[in-house]
Amino acid sequence: MTHSSGLEALKRALSDVDRVLISTHMNPDGDAVGSVLGLRGILESIGKQVEIVISDSITRKYRFLIDKPVLKPDSRELENLKEAERFQMVIFLDAAEKKRVGDVLDHLDRWMSPGALEVNIDHHFSKDVFGDIVIVDPDRASAAELVMQLADTLGVDLSPVIAGQLFAAIMTDTGRFQFGNTDSHSLKAAAKLVEEGADPSRIARHIYMERPVSYYRLLGNLLNSIELYHDGKISMIAMSSDNIATYFPDGNMDSEGMVDFTTQVEGVEVGILLRQTGNGTFKASLRSHNGIDLRLIVETFGGGGHANAAGCGIEGSLEDVKEQIVSEVKKWLK
Ligand code: 5GP
Ligand code: MN
Repeated sequence: MTHSSGLEALKRALSDVDRVLISTHMNPDGDAVGSVLGLRGILESIGKQVEIVISDSITRKYRFLIDKPVLKPDSRELENLKEAERFQMVIFLDAAEKKRVGDVLDHLDRWMSPGALEVNIDHHFSKDVFGDIVIVDPDRASAAELVMQLADTLGVDLSPVIAGQLFAAIMTDTGRFQFGNTDSHSLKAAAKLVEEGADPSRIARHIYMERPVSYYRLLGNLLNSIELYHDGKISMIAMSSDNIATYFPDGNMDSEGMVDFTTQVEGVEVGILLRQTGNGTFKASLRSHNGIDLRLIVETFGGGGHANAAGCGIEGSLEDVKEQIVSEVKKWLK
């Protein structure tokens, strides 16, 4: 099924549905947050009752986008739903694999009506695409662009609030229109959203320019010990639990964007950020701009993502994890 036939199929299916549940991946990023909020507004404007539920909380810098409550799996609103309160459709956004949705999945049985439809709207490449209705297009830079196509298919005009939510999604997934996925489609989509009322400067300020000072102190510490490998083609910064605890004693750290600095070094082709997630467990974030497909690299560790931005979990001591990831990346570099 092409994604355009998916759009038509979703339009048809929606005519039989009153209540829609929307979700996205764990630790939602800007595209996830903006897309779920924008999609809720669009579906509400055609008369649907919509709830958003996400396994993790929305980080502080995206909260200005929230126009109505977003639920967690343990929210009271989702307890003991009567038959009439159950949802006839669930839409997953920006989730390449269903398991990326996290804890929400454990509760779907008690929230959904029997025979409810599962819809997958995503822009990741995936070998085994899930969903009864599939709107997946890996050529798009953000899930939000697919949400905009759905709005078109449904004949919905975007309000300034929805335009802002979707603009934030495109801006973050294209790295402020600088990553390799930035193309005429994402720029035209962004321009359209500005015409509909999105305010790029205000959105950028909220997301990028109001970080806690500890963010910069931790970043400074990490950049001070950036490591280069393989003739300077690979760079790495590593964040231990101790690092995190020093700068964020309450554990409430948001490191999004730090990895971008790893590829802003002359000669670097692949940048890696390692973040300790537990005793002997690390999350690796990879970025590149030389055309090698990072997704194939992280797949060897069970991860996923895009060609230019991908991630995975790796187990071992810090030194061991560094060795594992660097030796894998080396294989793909000349
Ligand atoms: P980040 O490095 O910013 O966490 O993620 C970059 C990209 O890789 C995103 O598209 C994200 O969804 C994907 N990604 C990150 N970690 C994982 C993972 O463990 N599994 C999968 N399948 N994708 C990941
Ligand atoms: Mn995305």
